[in-house]
Amino acid sequence: MTDFAGNQHVIEVIYLVASALFILSLKWMSSPATARRGVRAGEIGMVLAIGGTLLHHGIIDYKWIAIALVLGTIIGIPLGRVHMTAVPQRTALSHAFGALCVTLVGTAEFYLRSPQVPRFMMSVLSMEVILGGLTFTGSLMAAGKLQEILPQRPLTYKGQNFVNFVLLGTAIVLAVLLVHDPGHKQLFPFMVAIAVVFGVLLVIPIGGADMPTVISLLNAYAGLSAAAMGFVLESKLLIIAGALDGSSGLILSVIMSKAMNRSFTNVLFGAFGQVQARGAAGQEAKTVRSATAEEAAAILSAANKVVIVPGYGMAVAQAQHKVRELYDALSKRGVDVRFAIHPVAGRMPGHMNVLLAEADIPYDRLIDMEDINGDFPQTDVALVIGANDVTNPAARTDTSSPIYGMPILDVDKARTVMVIKRGMSPGFAGIDNPLYYLDRTLMLFGDAKAFVGNLVRELGGGHG
Ligand code: NAP
Repeated sequence: MTDFAGNQHVIEVIYLVASALFILSLKWMSSPATARRGVRAGEIGMVLAIGGTLLHHGIIDYKWIAIALVLGTIIGIPLGRVHMTAVPQRTALSHAFGALCVTLVGTAEFYLRSPQVPRFMMSVLSMEVILGGLTFTGSLMAAGKLQEILPQRPLTYKGQNFVNFVLLGTAIVLAVLLVHDPGHKQLFPFMVAIAVVFGVLLVIPIGGADMPTVISLLNAYAGLSAAAMGFVLESKLLIIAGALDGSSGLILSVIMSKAMNRSFTNVLFGAFGQVQARGAAGQEAKTVRSATAEEAAAILSAANKVVIVPGYGMAVAQAQHKVRELYDALSKRGVDVRFAIHPVAGRMPGHMNVLLAEADIPYDRLIDMEDINGDFPQTDVALVIGANDVTNPAARTDTSSPIYGMPILDVDKARTVMVIKRGMSPGFAGIDNPLYYLDRTLMLFGDAKAFVGNLVRELGGGHG
């Protein structure tokens, strides 16, 4: 008996340390300077949480746990090695696995306890499996769309929102009936099945463009369902970790929606991808001015202040190390070089910060949009590298533009604008960018990595 109490005590202490590490991890991850420490703290917290759980007195046989650990590791290692640009769909897959696990545990707990399930317990159990079920299939749909296994465009039909509301409403009614009388075991599978179908129908009408926001929303649902599981399993650690996951996912979704000037309801019910297609078709031939690497290097070396604006193209081209060499070459010549970071540049939150940090660009050179926008009129050259939508002035002026109202980097206010991209293709939102046709804009056509490499060579820099 004392052994048992002692064991319990050790587990509680381990869980407390793990919870503290999860909280610190989130805090540290909010700044590029401490992000690595944040990741480490999260990893150690998770190892402690798993270790503490394995000490649990209720475990009588470790065989299946060992098999599950090996299987999880075999699946997890390749998942952790995907390209940075595939991280959103990888994250969606992780949510799908987590949500499936929560749904299965909730189902097992229901059948173990029914019909003796207290009302509060039945309420959280229902919430757990409804959120878990819809997050499981919703996340699979989101991953499929981002990986282009499923069509990226919104799949819509008449009365879609009505059907969705009826489905969700039915699942909630079944939950209420079960809370009232948990003996109605036959209702439980229907409730789970409806949640699973609802997850598919919720995500298929949303365009690929909105998937990262949807994924962070699903992240919030997965967190909430895990917190509900914490109540069912009486695990304070799960409640804390689930609440942290749920609230951070929700905050991230709000930040992303704001940065794209979209409301939640517009993301969830707006079928944004359809608008994009129309915008892309409306392009007409206009003239642009282009320049060679030699000409661009001459202008850059004569500048006092240069602001580099990275975007998705820099990520695809993996040009961040060449960009670092350019930063070094220009700084050596006394040019003040800073980086303008748009909150949704690239394809996932923090995408540009991660890449530039990987190339060891000093953190204090990375300036957020709201802090740098006022400086563009005093900037000699704004060098846009593979960014498009986040620099599109139509967002400020053209009320008919699908991105109207989205906050952008005001690069068009710089004295000279240079844009490195391969051709005149539109970006993520599928619309033309009037920035390219301004008198002060020079197009530098080419792959970001190759072109920046040429600029570095012209400036006499580079690391061999
Ligand atoms: P973007 O608008 O998608 O434009 C990227 C540009 O990069 C394209 O115009 C493309 O033009 C160019 N490019 C592609 N490959 C290249 C290469 N190898 N070398 C040089 N250029 C290349 O990117 P963004 O300005 O970063 O904007 C991000 C968009 O994603 C926004 O619309 C945002 O709302 C959306 N979004 C972001 C997030 C997030 O969390 N970050 C989430 C959801 C949605 P060419 O093909 O002509 O080269």
